[in-house]
Amino acid sequence: MARRKKIYEGKAKILYEGPEPGTLVQYFKDDATAFNAEKKAVIEGKGVLNNRLSEFFMTGLQSIGVPTHFIKRLNMREQLIRQVEIIPLEVIVRNFAAGSMAKRLGMEEGAPLPRPIIEFSYKDDKLGDPLVPEEYIIAFGWASQQDLDDIVALALRVNDFMSGVMHGVGIKLIDFKIEIGRIWDNDFQRLVVADEISPDSCRLWDIETGQKLDKDVFRKDLGSLTDAYTEVARRLGVLPSNVTHRPRPTLIN
Ligand code: C5P
Repeated sequence: MARRKKIYEGKAKILYEGPEPGTLVQYFKDDATAFNAEKKAVIEGKGVLNNRLSEFFMTGLQSIGVPTHFIKRLNMREQLIRQVEIIPLEVIVRNFAAGSMAKRLGMEEGAPLPRPIIEFSYKDDKLGDPLVPEEYIIAFGWASQQDLDDIVALALRVNDFMSGVMHGVGIKLIDFKIEIGRIWDNDFQRLVVADEISPDSCRLWDIETGQKLDKDVFRKDLGSLTDAYTEVARRLGVLPSNVTHRPRPTLIN
């Protein structure tokens, strides 16, 4: 096979040129990083799990009419995606206080919020992805007011979908981050959910026990990250073994 052209390498994924113009291949690495890459490790199997989980969430979103960059999974570690122009923002949706919000405001982790709160960080590793107000976003031209209105609407739909799916398997969606891409069709642009949705970019707590099933396990040395992600995949029925060995329904008459 001809060597593929690498387009971009990030902390957890690599993007290669896709088979057709306007497509890319997204490869999920096993690398885990936290605190803006100050903490690093290779966690065997993480890329395989995140490839599956992101496929599961993106196809679910598409099935309820939320556009995403996802086209199809190619193999254990790779998926075919639409090439998009990434808006340089991390769009964070919070249902319960945790992480940087809990720290900034001196709130208890897990405290319910009066409503889902959306915040934006400017995507820049050197600056540590600083939180930015909408006014900066518009003034610096990273997105227009119309884009922001559309992004908020998209983020809330993703939140409702993800919260419901996770609740169905006994998991509380504390918060998550998404990235949004633009797809151009001549002069007309469409905004789509891009990058990945996985336990790397969400906070997921078991409803009964409060056990953390997300990247905080790695950030805070709480045990095996693979076990936590495998548990999420198992509950959602997206483990490769579950997919192939799921019992078929029996017809009774
Ligand atoms: O750290 P913080 O509380 O701001 O993170 C909020 C949510 O966004 C968490 O689910 C975290 O995993 C996610 N996040 C991310 N990538 C970042 C920063 C935050 O996926 N660079």
